[in-house]
Amino acid sequence: MRNIKVFKKNSIIWWLVTLVVTLSIISFYNYDVQKKLLLKQMQSDSKDIISSITAAIKRFQDIKSTMNLQKLVNDMSLDLDIFEFRYLEPDGVIRNSMFQDEIGRVHTGKSFKQTMQGDLPFGEFFFEVRDYVPVMAIYYPIKIKNELVGIIDLAVEVPPEVLKSNGDEDSVISHRKVDILNLLKAIEGSIKNSISIFRNTNIEDFLYKYVSSAENILQITVIDRTGHVVVSSNKSIIGKRFDMSRLKRKQIVELEGRPVYRMLTDGSVFGGDKNKQLILLIDAAPYKENEQRLLQTALITSIIALLIALFIARAIYRSAIRQSKEEKERLERLVKERTHEIELLSKTDSLTGLWNRGYLEEMLEIEFKRARRYRHDVSIAVVDLDHFKQINDTYGHMAGDEVLRQVSGHIKSCIRETDFVGRYGGEEIVVILPETDIKTARAIAEKIRETIEVHPVKFEGETIKVTSSIGVSNLRAEHEDYHEVFSEADEALYEAKEEGRNRVVVSKKAEAEEQPVPFDD
Ligand code: GH3
Ligand code: MG
Ligand code: MG
Repeated sequence: MRNIKVFKKNSIIWWLVTLVVTLSIISFYNYDVQKKLLLKQMQSDSKDIISSITAAIKRFQDIKSTMNLQKLVNDMSLDLDIFEFRYLEPDGVIRNSMFQDEIGRVHTGKSFKQTMQGDLPFGEFFFEVRDYVPVMAIYYPIKIKNELVGIIDLAVEVPPEVLKSNGDEDSVISHRKVDILNLLKAIEGSIKNSISIFRNTNIEDFLYKYVSSAENILQITVIDRTGHVVVSSNKSIIGKRFDMSRLKRKQIVELEGRPVYRMLTDGSVFGGDKNKQLILLIDAAPYKENEQRLLQTALITSIIALLIALFIARAIYRSAIRQSKEEKERLERLVKERTHEIELLSKTDSLTGLWNRGYLEEMLEIEFKRARRYRHDVSIAVVDLDHFKQINDTYGHMAGDEVLRQVSGHIKSCIRETDFVGRYGGEEIVVILPETDIKTARAIAEKIRETIEVHPVKFEGETIKVTSSIGVSNLRAEHEDYHEVFSEADEALYEAKEEGRNRVVVSKKAEAEEQPVPFDD
């Protein structure tokens, strides 16, 4: 039974441990999921930001590369039969062209080189063969305040004979020259317009404004392949260099004591320009705050679960301790009671409830020794019922037993608490009277005798007359031990029987000694 209880307690504690661990795992799993969601949200936010920024940057690039020229040429030159058209920077880099694949390269035309070297004049028509085709071409300079800012290279197809005569006196050619010059003038105006817009509009300013207007964007930076900052909303870092090996695609870094989400894009946002990458810095404080809160919640959940489990475990442990303590006390009490009962049983006579012979002899030994040592009085009375055999014979053994019980009660009622009454055997009862001289002992014996006589025993409708004979003696100097005193009392009892029963006889030797003499040992 107890083993089952212990097993149950242990299994409850295991359940608690499992519960705490499960709760902790669930709350930390939840924390992880929520955290990832937060990060995803921030990433998608930053993607939106990037696409709007790249759109804006692209517009700047459009202006810079004068993309609108293409449309202008297409719109205005339908009947001019244009063979080649390109816009060059003064160093020969092709910024715009009818042929998309040559954009960005350096122009290698022989006549262009001659013009740049000053061997051919700028802004004048000339005839040459390009790719086996006779053309009339012009390198048209674009100047702002006398500074060469770009060159338009334009060529139109002409009949071979025009090439041979260098276009002299050809009215058709003359007309075309005028038309082309008109087109070039229009283009020149458009380019100048674009350049002045571009010059007046600073991309850094734009980025700076963008960053200031967006609540959570901290910085927008464009770097080149080697990590050099090309453009940035933070003007102080322009020209500085990032360590490319330490720059990850996405990460949360600490900047000026606050968490920042740094995102690095590839060149795809710049229309495949591999040389450029965009770095976006986004304020990650709200993210971190939420993450912290989630972590706290997870921790608190785990701690509460742990505390509850500890509390329950403690309660179980305490109740187990208390139970075992109570059980121990109960058992101890039981053992004590049983021991006492057994002790009592071993000392008492089951029929009369008086002390039994064994204990009586023990007490005789003790009381007489004590009295001898301290020279105190102690007397003894031996009671024997008269004609008890006859009572048994007349009324039956059961009646005899009842007589013994009642007589025992009467004897007890005549003595003090400090006296001892024991059944010595059969119907012989011995009374030890400590601190009692022989005179008093006789009086007590007389009282016992009388009490027995005046109380006939009633049993199953019968009234049984009972009398007793009592022999009395006391401890005196000449006695070695109680046996001698007992013998004297027994002798006195014999005398009482002889003299006719129902009487008290004091031992002759005891009667002779008025006072006990001092002991000499
Ligand atoms: P007297 O003492 O007057 O000389 O005569 P008596 O009949 O009492 O003689 P004795 O003392 O020799 O007899 C004792 C009798 O007591 C013998 C026995 O049958 C009876 N007796 C002893 N123990 C018990 C007992 O426990 N119950 C009953 N009913 N009788 C007992
Ligand atoms: Mg007897
Ligand atoms: Mg008798």
